[in-house]
Amino acid sequence: MLEQILSHDETFSAPEWLKAQANLKDLEAEHARSIADPDAFWGSWAARFEWFTPWEKVMDWNYPDHRWFVGGETNITLNALDRHADGANRNKVALIWIAEDGSERKVTYYELRQLVSRLASGLRSLGVEKGDRVVIYMPLTLEGVLSMLACARLGAVHSVVYAGMGVGALRDRIVDAGAKVVIAGNIGMRRGKGVDLRSIVDQAVEDLPLRHVIWYQRGVKTELQPREVDFDELMAQSKPDVAPVPVDSEHPLYILYTSGSTGKPKGVVHVHGGYMVGTSYHLRTFYDVKDSDVFWATSDIGWVVGHSYIVYAPLVEGVTSVFREGAPDWPDPGIFWKCVEQYGVNVMFTAPTAVRMFMKFGAEYVSKYDLSTLRLIAVAGEPLNPEAMRWAKQHLLDEGKRGFVADNWWQTELGGPTIATPITKDARPGAAGLPLPGVEAEVVDETGNAVPKGKGGLLALKRPFPHMMRTIWGSHSRYEQYWNEIPNCYAAGDVASWDEDGYISVLGRSDDVLNVAGHRIGTADVESALITHPSVAESAVIGIPDALKGEAIKAFVVLRFGEEPNDETRQSIIEHVRRELGPIATPSQVAFTEKLPKTRSGKIVRRLLKAQELGKDPGDLSTLED
Ligand code: AMP
Repeated sequence: MLEQILSHDETFSAPEWLKAQANLKDLEAEHARSIADPDAFWGSWAARFEWFTPWEKVMDWNYPDHRWFVGGETNITLNALDRHADGANRNKVALIWIAEDGSERKVTYYELRQLVSRLASGLRSLGVEKGDRVVIYMPLTLEGVLSMLACARLGAVHSVVYAGMGVGALRDRIVDAGAKVVIAGNIGMRRGKGVDLRSIVDQAVEDLPLRHVIWYQRGVKTELQPREVDFDELMAQSKPDVAPVPVDSEHPLYILYTSGSTGKPKGVVHVHGGYMVGTSYHLRTFYDVKDSDVFWATSDIGWVVGHSYIVYAPLVEGVTSVFREGAPDWPDPGIFWKCVEQYGVNVMFTAPTAVRMFMKFGAEYVSKYDLSTLRLIAVAGEPLNPEAMRWAKQHLLDEGKRGFVADNWWQTELGGPTIATPITKDARPGAAGLPLPGVEAEVVDETGNAVPKGKGGLLALKRPFPHMMRTIWGSHSRYEQYWNEIPNCYAAGDVASWDEDGYISVLGRSDDVLNVAGHRIGTADVESALITHPSVAESAVIGIPDALKGEAIKAFVVLRFGEEPNDETRQSIIEHVRRELGPIATPSQVAFTEKLPKTRSGKIVRRLLKAQELGKDPGDLSTLED
């Protein structure tokens, strides 16, 4: 399989007219410049923005800690809102929100600043101040985005929890972040139906010492408890009178939790200054966004793509960002393409799992729409399989005459695209691409030495860039682990290979983390949820191949003495995990077993379960207990 991936006998090029107008024309030259003099490179990009206090030094690199725009003061909303609301973009549409039922809301930069300032004023009246943490559990709505921006404006730190996560996951994150306030929606929309979020939040916050829960209520408004506040009323009572609070460049902007190989989620911390500079650089260069473009990232504010490319980078750059609540195949599988036609989307950012879904439904849902504006489809989250790339090129981009499909690899920790195939380079199906400007990436062995081209190893980064995480909230040692696992590198946790020309293919995780429909899910997260079910004594979780989702979750469960291994127990276990973690982390299969394979030291050998499941050679079993 490795040989097949490495052979790359098939390449795709962008049409010449598209290359000629690309914002990033010469990757090699730009990359060389960024590595030779990072201070000049990032400093000149940062100089495009407004700063309350100019920085004294571009970068301070003290392995493994890095700081950028040292001594500078700004606020990301000064650049994402005020810079435009007080300038030529005042009346330009900043955000277009599309509801599942097709209704829409458009707000200009001026209107957006007023809304954010009003909400920030409301939050301030409830005691939210610089440095406070606010958890946001909101459906993908304008109010969700306003909540993020209002926190940022005050210098408060938001932590958005995807509004599909379960009670346990939400509660853990509120506690870990030490949040004072939660902003939550009562209802999410999915396939024409309201999804009850209210009961999840109520259970998660019960007996937590929060100051306030602010409810964005759709449909019937419920009577609120003393610590609860209605979002709309808070807005109505407040004035748009909050100016962006000056914060240090290194002041935390947000915490976003991601999975690792232990059961405890990692709170990745991004900051105001470097994150603004780096994510906006890649929006303009790699995503090739022009001033007049309409940009659509089909993600959710619960994920890093939503933070960087629905909200922050497009607004910092003053472009128009589209986002849509609801399922991608509802009311019918043509809905994405209908929206592209209606809003004239130029650049779209989506996931391989979505492309595979459209492939399954068939080209007839695409061909009835005019997609002539669409010139770039960027995909990230998991490897883009060659069939999906071919299909996208053929059916979404008129055989590739109209545009380009650009793979890009990155992580929550990295904030923006890192290894990718820009428009001017040939795409090699199966490969994410080449290191982008600012990035020094290698495929290395365990000692940190680069493996020869044509071989496989571990994906590592040799230096930081401005939009890379600064720490793991409350646990700097977990941050340091990324830089201590392999000598002198940041270990991404991915197995990769590179070809003779340096194109990097990411083959999968090297740790116990699964990729389900582009989402990182730790086996330990699911196992910890499983053992809190009263019938479960022990469990082990593996990923099994799935044509649409990439991987699906299979759980092996040892029941407690006296429990019946029947369908009812199985259903109850599945429901339990769904309640604790949410739908994306719910096992699609639960198998009952008498015991699990373990090493003599008691560690579960998931690799053996996986080999058995897939009918493969399990490798060396000499350390097994049984
Ligand atoms: P997350 O932090 O949830 O965005 O997940 C990041 C992980 O997703 C990476 O470590 C990879 O395992 C995987 N990933 C993201 N983008 C790609 C890509 N373009 N190709 C292959 N794997 C990817």
